[in-house]
This record gives sequence, C-alpha cells and structure tokens, in this order.
Amino acid sequence: MKIYNTLSKQKEGFRPLNAGKVSMYICGPTVYDRIHIGNLRAYLIPDVLRKFLEYSSFEVRQIKNITDVGHLMEDNVAQGDTGEDKIEKKALAEKKTPAEIAGFYENYFHETEKALNILPAHFFPRATAHIPQMLKIIQILIDKGFAYEKNGNVFFDVTKFADYGKLSGNTLENLKVGARLEEHPDKKNPWDFALWLKAPKEHIMKWDSPWSVGYPGWHIECSAMSMEYLGDTIDIHTGGEDNIFPHHEAEIAQSESATGQKFVNYWLHIRHLLVDGEKMAKSKGNFYFLEDIEAKGYSPMELRLAILSSHYRSQMNFTWAVMEQAKTNFQKISEFVYNLKNIPISSEKDSLGNEVSKYTEKFEKAMDDDLNTPLALSVLYEMITETNKLIAENKLDTKQAKNILAVWEKMNKVFGFVIEAKQDIPEEIIKIAEERKTFRNNKDFEKSDKLRDKILEKGYAIEDLKNNEYLIKKQ
Ligand SMILES: [Zn+2]
Repeated sequence: MKIYNTLSKQKEGFRPLNAGKVSMYICGPTVYDRIHIGNLRAYLIPDVLRKFLEYSSFEVRQIKNITDVGHLMEDNVAQGDTGEDKIEKKALAEKKTPAEIAGFYENYFHETEKALNILPAHFFPRATAHIPQMLKIIQILIDKGFAYEKNGNVFFDVTKFADYGKLSGNTLENLKVGARLEEHPDKKNPWDFALWLKAPKEHIMKWDSPWSVGYPGWHIECSAMSMEYLGDTIDIHTGGEDNIFPHHEAEIAQSESATGQKFVNYWLHIRHLLVDGEKMAKSKGNFYFLEDIEAKGYSPMELRLAILSSHYRSQMNFTWAVMEQAKTNFQKISEFVYNLKNIPISSEKDSLGNEVSKYTEKFEKAMDDDLNTPLALSVLYEMITETNKLIAENKLDTKQAKNILAVWEKMNKVFGFVIEAKQDIPEEIIKIAEERKTFRNNKDFEKSDKLRDKILEKGYAIEDLKNNEYLIKKQ
C-alpha cells in the first residue's frame, strides 16, 4: 500500500515498524463544542484507513485523544500560547464547570462517530489524566537544554531543534518573513511555544508542577499520550491539514528532542472541507453539524458515502447537491444488496460468477493507492451496474449472486456502510399503502385513515415519514 506522507511530500510504500502491526495516533477533538462535518471527515478517513489495514491483515492499534484542557483560543494565528483556554471560556459562558463542558461534548463526539459507523479507537485518553506524563517530558526537555523556564512558564526553544519546519515547511528562516505574532513576554523567540503556563488566580483547571501551579500547552498533550500508549516512534499520525502547523510541527520538535528518536514515520493529513466553495464559518451560516444534515432528510450513512466520494487529499466541497447524489447512490447500493439477497433462481448460466474477483482486484488497487475511495466506489458502482443488468435479464442464479454478495461484503468491511435489511412486504399491502398516500396528498384524511386500519387488520403497521414517505412494519 502507498500513502502520501506530509513529511516527505510524496507517496511512499507503507512499511510498519513491526511486521503485521500498525500503531496509529489520531488528533482527537477539543471538547468545548460540537464536532462539525469537517471534523467528521478528519475522523472518517483514519477509520477507513484502519479498516483497510485490517482488511489487509494488519493488526491496528488506534489511539485518539480527547483534549479537555490547554487548547487556547489563539492557536490558529499564533503558537497556541496566548488567549484563553477554549474549554474554560465555554464553561464561564455557560456557567458550568470545565468538566461538565468537556463531558457533554465528549459524549456528543462519541455519539456522532457512532452514527457514522466510525469504529471506536482502542483507547481515548484524556489530556487531564496525563499531566504527570507531560511533566516528565517537559523536565527532560529542560534538562537537555531544549526548553527554558521563566516566571513559572516553560517554553520550547525552537532554535535548538535543527529540524524545525521539516513537516510544514515553516522553517525559522521562512517564518521570519512577514510573521505577525502575539508574543508572550517571557519568550526568547517569537516562535517558541508553550509547554507549561502559569495559571492566573481565577483559572479553574490547574495542576502543581516544579515551575508553577499551571496547565499544559496543547501540543505537549499529544506527544505525551502518543508515547504513553504507542511508544516513542509510531507508524501513522493523522489530523486535519490545519493541524500541520503549529500543532504537529511542535509535536515533532518536542518529541524528537526528548527521545532522540523519530516521532512518526507517516504523517497523514486530511484537507479542509468547504461548504459551497467557502471555508466553514459560524458567521457565514455554513457551519454544519450532523443534525443539520439529518434535518434536511439525509442519513449519517449518506454523509459517510458523500465524504468517501471525494479523495481525502482534495478539498471536498460540501453542497446539498452532493448529498442528493449520495442519497441516490446509497439507495442504489441498498437495492443492490437487497436484490442479491432475494435473487430469483434461474437455470441459465451466468456470465459474471467466475469473474467477480476482478472487482476485488480493482478495489484493492484503488485503496492501495493512497486510499483512493472515489475510485474504489466507482468499482462498486460498476459491479452494481453489471449485476443489475444480469438480474434484469434473469441471468443470475443464487450461487453467483452469493459470489457477488461475498465480494460486496468484503469491500464493505472497508467502506463501512450499514445497510438496513428491507422487510418483505406483500404487494397487496404496498398497494393499499400507495392508495393511502394519494389520499394523504389530497388531504383526504378520512379515507387515508380507513386504509391505515385496513393495513392494521392485515397485520402491518404504517409509519409516516418526512416528505410523505412511509415505512411499513410487520406487527
Ligand atoms: Zn494532537
């Protein structure tokens, strides 16, 4: 398998540190707000990567952190060491404790991941539970001369790490040009970043340390938790492209300075998701959460399909037209699976049964090439089209249908779609339900209610859905 490594800026053949095993660290959510669809994309891709590695017989261990302290408001414009703590700020605004805020949004995060069938990581370490590990690394960095303390604050001295900038291209030389930084008065160099900050009196989340009662910087959390659970050097570290700088650049600097080892072999970054061609922003009203997608009548699985329909290294442009397309395609996949499970037996010979392995090969080739999910999906669509043709011509028998179904099930271990099994509803019942729908469309509720009772008498219940759709269930 080849994956694009942000570090080398090229596709590289994937070779794990230990044969057959893969360690993967995913930069998880800062739990001060709901995760949006852009975040979801950044969690869905590592999920598909994990599923494909497992499909390819690797044993994967995934760690996804929960940042519940230390992520400061200004991290997008500076080094993340000025401004307020995101969680503490929200807690003050909502008159809740930081733990209540973190707990609520952590829960929301897990539920949203579950809705999209993102497999839970093997462990979700919380930053607040790993302060001793962070203190240990900070002390090592001070002892080795990579970090310095002033007025209870500890900073990493970027001039001491020769490789600074190797991930993002933001070397100190490049940074000098046009840098506008909000400087902390205790810093030696503007690009030094905080490892530990002394807490102001009113600060709620604070811990003892050799330097001050304070709290950790955001970057040190990920280094500490990655090392704690996966070791000094790991195979894959993922994040959104906005994590490349300063977050991941800082992680490399502090980790490699502390251990003397390479921190990560493969850095994988997911590009931004745009909405209607623009960056998402609350002020623009184009900031979407899973609930917004569902309110428009789309399911989490359709969102999953929409996200996989674009490559993770290209900017996905989210539009409602994209969701509509995903809905159509998901319907197509669902019907395909349903048909294969209920295929009529035909005596005629097939033309597809012995050739189904070609789809597996094409699918694997697409996924092997830097997780080309849009191409892998096109292989599935091709298989569906050819199968549907054979079904229409009554040329497929149960044995061959099972072969194709097996190929689909193998592929779907990677796609991760949850397809609800359709019930077999007798034609007679469907006919009455359709009649009822017509009455409902004409607002003739008396007649439509009568038909509902008639359906009930026959042992089925009808449930009305959005857009005058309905669901029939066996009683
Ligand atoms: Zn991180």
